[in-house]
Amino acid sequence: MKRTLFFKIFTGYILIILSISSLFLLFSFKSIRENQINLLKDNLENIALSMESRIYQFLKDKNFDGLNSFVKGLGETTGTRITIIDPEGVVLADSEENPELMENHATRPEILNALYGRTGSSLRYSATVKKEMLYVAIPVREEVELIGVIRVSLFLEQIKILLNSIRRDIIWVTIIIIFLSLIGAFLFSRSLTVPIKELVNASSKVADGNYDVKIYLKNKDELWSLAESLNNMIERTKVLITNLSEQKEALDTIISSIHEGLLVLDKKGKILLSNKSFKKICGFENIEGKLYWEVIRDPELGELIRDVEKERTGIIKEIELLGKNYICNASYLSKYEEIVLTFINITEMKGVEKIKKDFVVNVSHELRTPLTAIKGFMETLGESVDKKNRRYVEIVLRHTERLINIVKDLLALSELEESRIKLEVENVNLEKLLKNVITIYENEIKNKKLKFVFESEKKLPAIKGDSYRLEQMFINLIENAIKYTDKGEIRVTLKSENKEVKLEVKDTGVGIAEEHLTRIFERFYVVDKSRSRKLGGTGLGLSIVKHIVLLHKGNIDVKSTPGEGTSFVITLPVST
Ligand code: ADP
Repeated sequence: MKRTLFFKIFTGYILIILSISSLFLLFSFKSIRENQINLLKDNLENIALSMESRIYQFLKDKNFDGLNSFVKGLGETTGTRITIIDPEGVVLADSEENPELMENHATRPEILNALYGRTGSSLRYSATVKKEMLYVAIPVREEVELIGVIRVSLFLEQIKILLNSIRRDIIWVTIIIIFLSLIGAFLFSRSLTVPIKELVNASSKVADGNYDVKIYLKNKDELWSLAESLNNMIERTKVLITNLSEQKEALDTIISSIHEGLLVLDKKGKILLSNKSFKKICGFENIEGKLYWEVIRDPELGELIRDVEKERTGIIKEIELLGKNYICNASYLSKYEEIVLTFINITEMKGVEKIKKDFVVNVSHELRTPLTAIKGFMETLGESVDKKNRRYVEIVLRHTERLINIVKDLLALSELEESRIKLEVENVNLEKLLKNVITIYENEIKNKKLKFVFESEKKLPAIKGDSYRLEQMFINLIENAIKYTDKGEIRVTLKSENKEVKLEVKDTGVGIAEEHLTRIFERFYVVDKSRSRKLGGTGLGLSIVKHIVLLHKGNIDVKSTPGEGTSFVITLPVST
């Protein structure tokens, strides 16, 4: 059972009041009784003293009969029992009993004291009258000699009657005090618990989300200060909550109005937040709280989420969901261990891109045959025309060759850019592959008087790749090195490092200025247009190289100093 604070305080007070009252009663009874007995003792002693001279006379005269009747008369008038005892303890006279029948009193404690010359007193049960009595005895002396003892005694019943009436009064007073104290305790407990109750009520209302609460307390005490602080706190919380809900509302509006799909996942893959656009993508409403794979089951998306979680970095990837193409940008919020995904629909863009690509491929295919024909006819024509016209024929031939190269490169690039391109993967020995490519260019190198160095690490591990594409990659790199180097050397090195094969094609050619380095892998990007054209360049070679490297999950890096040379470094993972 839940005990209220009021109950606890009030019962506490009741216990305190009752224990104090009982202690008070106990001690007051005891001390009143002691007081009364002391008073009686004094009275009895006074009575004894007042009769001392008369008794002395009787004792001196040895008039025991007279003494006896005097004692009896006095006992009656004083309402006490009077006994006279000689120094040996023999009872000479008694106001109530026959002295001759009474035993020797010398051993009674009060008599013993009196026999020693002191006032003696004792409270005990009387064997003679069979009642509790209070005795006071004083010595009677002739000069210094003790001639007898006067003992005055009283039945305690009389004190009991007196004490009972006092007790009754005290009990009544105590009951009234207890009653008043209880009323006081009740009022005090209530005055203490009522404001606490108000504080509790107010805080439980706040806990339930009701911030329109104000606590009013009458007494300006500590609880009042607490109530004031609570009022301030509630007020501030209300403002804060209002601001927060306004902000949340604004954020919700912004999120729902975003055209891109938005999805926030916790570390277990549970959906914390999503917007309208995402719900449209997956085709479900009320998806918050569900696991993402219950809503959208897609292996590509699953892999992307797992990768982001594992690497704890953002990843941007193109994925296909339910027949539509999206650019999915997944970011990792390390502070909250959450993943935020945005989905940009690029289906239309993809369509247009495909049309463009198809167009390029179709045009390239269509151009290839007539261009090859033109080249053949121009070569034949060149043999039959005079010297002057041969120059023109040669120019046409050079441009035709360039066009053929562009068409070839465009077709190669389109093929590589195809998202579903399939590599003919096998274990490839790069050293062997490179040696074959080098033989193609031996003559050209000789003609340009260039030095060619090829270094390969012994026992170079094989890599998993498409040998045809890798050959294309080497051809482009070596062709460029020869094209853009007029003197010096071309050095090709192959070595393995940390489960990777590293290929470097280094030349001492014209080099590439810093500002072009990041752009040379773009399609049709050429540094020096006239030079590239003169050398039959298309601006597509490095694009093809980069595509092949990425398809093999490798990496390409370029370093160059104009006038000193260029170095292309490609790393490809070793097959495991
Ligand atoms: P291109 O067919 O014009 O050579 P690439 O895509 O192969 O086209 O190269 C792009 C540009 O990068 C070239 O125009 C050239 O300026 C520069 N380039 C490529 N390789 C080298 C190299 N080894 N030395 C200097 N410049 C180079």
